[in-house]
Amino acid sequence: MSQSFHQTGGWIEVISGVMFSGKSEELIRRVRRTIIARKRIQVFKSHLDARYAGIYTISSHDGRTVEAIPADNAAQIAQQIDPMAHVIAIDEAQFLDSGIIPLVTSLAGRGRRVILAGTDTDFRGEPFGPMPSLMAIAEVVDKLHAICVLCGGPASRNQRLIGGLPAPYDSPTIMVGGTESYEARCRMCFSIPPKDANQASLL
Ligand code: ADP
Ligand code: ZN
Repeated sequence: MSQSFHQTGGWIEVISGVMFSGKSEELIRRVRRTIIARKRIQVFKSHLDARYAGIYTISSHDGRTVEAIPADNAAQIAQQIDPMAHVIAIDEAQFLDSGIIPLVTSLAGRGRRVILAGTDTDFRGEPFGPMPSLMAIAEVVDKLHAICVLCGGPASRNQRLIGGLPAPYDSPTIMVGGTESYEARCRMCFSIPPKDANQASLL
């Protein structure tokens, strides 16, 4: 798939999907294959997600890890880019600011392969941060699914639970150090209490 772009210089790949859909596993697989091909690679990871790993690694839920450089925003990635790197991989791209869009556009324009992994929808089921734009400008987009924990179907939603109950619509998009938990769910099993009671009667 990606090899078809080899003759054209740089390009952008996005690995999207819900939590537990295997985005980090797929990113790590692509990183490993890049190393096998003896290409120079840099891996960046947002600071915000330290739930499954130390902040200096990207980690999949099956425990495989690859060293990554922590970065809070696009400017920090730009400052640390190795000019000799052929491939730039970025995990948890949903937490980054919109500056990531011109940055990866510029990197691809200068012949780099850029791979971004990120959750495309937030706990409300709405587009998350720069992910919609990244998916639009990418040459290749993969949308992965997890398994719905309630019915076993393909899961496309991140169910946020607070105290075991579905989080209200108004809770913040990013809860840092919170006590919330997440489940992968399908559209039918996904539950989000509406913004206000009146909205419920309109649905
Ligand atoms: P992501 O980066 O998308 O959050 P990971 O690559 O870190 O996903 O983890 C994927 C792994 O999570 C799967 O291979 C599986 O072992 C595990 N897993 C746990 N819960 C689920 C679920 N509900 N659906 C699918 N995989 C799950
Ligand atoms: Zn379901």
